[in-house]
Amino acid sequence: MFALIDCNNFYVSCERVFNPRIDGKPVIVLSNNDGCVIARSNEAKALGIRMGHPLYQCKDLVKKHKIFVYSSNYALYGDISNRVMKLLQSYSPDFEIYSIDEIFLGLSGFSNWDLTEYGKLIRKSILLGLKMPVSIGIGPTKTLAKLANHFAKSSPTAEGVFEIKNAILVQPLLKLIPVDEIWGVGRQWSYRLKDIGIKTAYDLSACNHYEIKKKFSVILARTVLELQGISCIALEEMAPRKNIMVSRSFGSPVTLYSDIREAVANFATRAAEKLRSQNSLATGIMVFIRTNHFNKTDSQYSNSISLKFPIETDNAMVILKYAVEGLQKIFREKYRYKKAGVMLLDLIHGRVTQPDIFIDDKVMNNHNLMNALDKINGKYGKQTVQFAVCGYRKAWKSHQENISPSYMTQWDELLVVYAN
Ligand SMILES: [Mg+2]
Repeated sequence: MFALIDCNNFYVSCERVFNPRIDGKPVIVLSNNDGCVIARSNEAKALGIRMGHPLYQCKDLVKKHKIFVYSSNYALYGDISNRVMKLLQSYSPDFEIYSIDEIFLGLSGFSNWDLTEYGKLIRKSILLGLKMPVSIGIGPTKTLAKLANHFAKSSPTAEGVFEIKNAILVQPLLKLIPVDEIWGVGRQWSYRLKDIGIKTAYDLSACNHYEIKKKFSVILARTVLELQGISCIALEEMAPRKNIMVSRSFGSPVTLYSDIREAVANFATRAAEKLRSQNSLATGIMVFIRTNHFNKTDSQYSNSISLKFPIETDNAMVILKYAVEGLQKIFREKYRYKKAGVMLLDLIHGRVTQPDIFIDDKVMNNHNLMNALDKINGKYGKQTVQFAVCGYRKAWKSHQENISPSYMTQWDELLVVYAN
């Protein structure tokens, strides 16, 4: 058996952890640069705010219903996510973190347990310990656990936990699920499936998996078996990422080379930090810049470049040097740039490198210096020590007008409690 645990309206729930004033009120969270709605509380959903709704189109609704609006605060969401995941992992030795707000737990050793009760216990502990509401779907396969989660959310009697004990018993419910809502069925496949009369999860579960394999793919055939209660998708251990990307849209168009260089240097530094925190080395770097394709009156330009490092490295100084070198090669004057980013390429895990007798590895990989840098910035706050090229102007910064404090990751933004 598997459980899929999904945080409800995750970003909104994170905002509510430290701010009980907005409990029970309509709340929305915006994408980078305050552009579109990316999370909605149930109250905001009920008012007709859609996912991906641009903010300027719902300004009237926001005003009329006094909707609370937040810029996205990924430092806060990331930290709360880590805590939720750690707490959930104490309920089973087998798990797979699926996204920032979803985790699969393997429950194969729990056959004598009342799993619905266990789910309720898990749910209560996450709510009590971290004020995070979750929905729990339990089923004999990962695909059915995903569907069970859907019922846990939508059924008023489920109290946040829904268990599919047996694939046969759940057939009437599968008739209610459109085929494109099944985990792993893409939009492309759902069109083709509907063409041949397969409209619901039930229809797909009634298919012969050999036929589906012939007509579609082995992946969709596995989904058919999973819907029938035969588990074929195992829990995957978290593999460290193969590339690390850091990119942002600018708050307003950027034209000066010095401003873009500052932005790219900040992204490269951040990417190098992520690289070191997962204990990897990068083989090269890709840098890209682009103008705003949606602005029809601007002349358009976009370009990218990939450079290989002389030896695998996690040294911010080397990574910065190549990032700036790449930018110099692709930057053109007289354009209004909207976005830039860097990607560290072909990561090697575990810091094992192939030495090169012509390259001084001590210069390329200064682990002591990088450790000291990470420790200082970890203890005293982000960018306590930074490279000069990262600058202070930050003219490129995204719009974040209503960002909540980083309650858990910045000393000077901790919650203050007054007692009389
Ligand atoms: Mg969620």
